[in-house]
Amino acid sequence: MTQTPMKTFRCPVCGHFLLLFDDLFQQEAMDYGYYEDRSVFFYLCSNCTLASEYGMTEEEAFKKAEELISKFPPIMRVHSGDKIRHIYQRGYYRSQPQIITEVNVQKGVMKVEGHIGLIHPNEVTTWPWELE
Ligand SMILES: [Zn+2]
Repeated sequence: MTQTPMKTFRCPVCGHFLLLFDDLFQQEAMDYGYYEDRSVFFYLCSNCTLASEYGMTEEEAFKKAEELISKFPPIMRVHSGDKIRHIYQRGYYRSQPQIITEVNVQKGVMKVEGHIGLIHPNEVTTWPWELE
């Protein structure tokens, strides 16, 4: 069964949404060698097979998903519609986060609204997860 996630995660591999599941079971040791099935939570990509480690609670699974995603390079963690700041922003626009319109993971470049050239990861000053 799928749960409603607290926050949406996008898959770093394919860009689809990660969904929270609770239909995985862990056997918990009770008294007298008796075991009880207890459901655990994990995030799974709705498209590919990427999955987080499981957590005993939704909150723990959420942290596991964050940990998993944080291991991927930044270019794989941004998607169209996310906002970044970059070194080419000048004057008034300097502090205004700009919307990513295209991400090319193979070439390692992005396009953003209001900037003609391509943006490389080392030209990004603020990533979406560094904005509030
Ligand atoms: Zn995926």
